[in-house]
Amino acid sequence: MIDTFDVLNPATEDVVKTVHMASAAEIDEVVAKAKAAWPAWRDTAPAHKANVLRKFALLVEQNGEELAQLEVLEAGHTIGTARWEVENVRNVLNYFAGGAERLIGQQIPVPGGIDITFHEPFGVVGIIVPWNYPMPIAAWGFAPALAAGNTVVLKPAEVTPLTAMRLAEIALEAGLPENVLNVVPGFGKVAGQQLVEHPDVQKIVFTGSTPVGKGIMRAGADRLKRVTLELGGKSPTIIFADADVEAAAKSAPLAVFDNSGQDCCARSRILVQESIYDEVLAHIETTVKGVRVGDPSSENTDMGPLISAVQRDRVKSFVPDGAPILFQGEAPTGKGFWFPPTVLAPIKPGDLQYEQEIFGPVCVVVPFKDEAHAISLANGTDYGLAGSIWTRDVGRALRMARGVDSGALSINSHSAVRYWTPFGGFKMSGVGRELGPNAIEAFTETKNVFISTES
Ligand code: NAP
Ligand code: MG
Repeated sequence: MIDTFDVLNPATEDVVKTVHMASAAEIDEVVAKAKAAWPAWRDTAPAHKANVLRKFALLVEQNGEELAQLEVLEAGHTIGTARWEVENVRNVLNYFAGGAERLIGQQIPVPGGIDITFHEPFGVVGIIVPWNYPMPIAAWGFAPALAAGNTVVLKPAEVTPLTAMRLAEIALEAGLPENVLNVVPGFGKVAGQQLVEHPDVQKIVFTGSTPVGKGIMRAGADRLKRVTLELGGKSPTIIFADADVEAAAKSAPLAVFDNSGQDCCARSRILVQESIYDEVLAHIETTVKGVRVGDPSSENTDMGPLISAVQRDRVKSFVPDGAPILFQGEAPTGKGFWFPPTVLAPIKPGDLQYEQEIFGPVCVVVPFKDEAHAISLANGTDYGLAGSIWTRDVGRALRMARGVDSGALSINSHSAVRYWTPFGGFKMSGVGRELGPNAIEAFTETKNVFISTES
């Protein structure tokens, strides 16, 4: 059996590092250690847990440039994106550190006594991470899991294990006890599957593709395993004629091509009111032609390569010969997994490129008539993760926001994931929410205790 993996630099195809991949038996050993480490971590004073997580955040900041450069090497992210990722990990750790001190229950009026609730940690939480934002997505799971008093076994994506491994070392330096945060590189079908099926792993947090997410829900069902699933998306940008059309249209492609389109919130369907269709296309063309694709370690690069040859081939399959390419930017040739920013039109509901997550720098532009038509187009896929609505009419903005079946919408902006606010999907985009003020509770069971005052 193959038990190593060559992590490649997606921009050069050079080997960055060869990593040992855990067997199922090795996962069992790590889970046993995490289980043994749990009672002491659970019983650690809340303020001490918080201080360790704050120290962890500080050390992430102090090692920030090294982490960012490592992310550029293994994930091909632009250095700007990689630095944002480091900042996000630091902020998420600080945000949830306070959660350890504010895991507050309720006192509920009842007859005959007093009733109180506790948020009890599960024990061992399994976190399975994809390659598109390796550091932040890991932190969105481990920060609240640890703050709530769980121990963690985290399996990074096979192609991007290095930053997660480094974060685990930094956690130890910060004073997190041994075996509380365990990062174990491995293959999904071996290590990931074993985590999902392990009886001592009480909860799985998974981010990745919808088919694998469904498989995890099925595999966990036998043990009624708790799951949080952050899956794919096919999110819309919706631009009305009454919007700041130039701002909306110029920024819309960037909400697809950021991170080379490898973003679950990518607004890969640009829906445009008919009367401004041509005007919007002109702005989109300008933006697309201006995207600088190339060496991700350069400060001047807007877009790097795709993560792997597999992903490049997958993206290419959505742009076969004869596909209706309206505009296409440039991309390097030669070594590296490059794909140019690509805009497809005309495309209609029912077409593969309209319905399926491409997870690359490819978007479609589709005209709509009115609000009702825009909502029916927006909701016309199995997904429901994110979306942007551009209009200056407040009533319309709110009607649209209530009408679109997505978990994370923005009006007159493209922001989706903010660590202060809940993030997650409707429909096939997932189950549960991460981030925001209540996320920590998803790492606990609620226990209700009644105390009689009558005996
Ligand atoms: P994936 O297979 O869903 O991978 C996500 C994570 O799950 C990886 O750590 C993977 O390990 C692991 N995994 C795979 N099979 C598993 C199993 N049977 N049990 C437990 N864990 C398992 O995603 P992918 O193949 O890398 O990408 C495919 C498509 O998924 C993309 O084109 C994109 O459409 C979508 N995607 C979405 C997101 C998102 O943020 N929503 C992120 C990544 C990909 P390995 O690394 O060993 O496969
Ligand atoms: Mg896979």
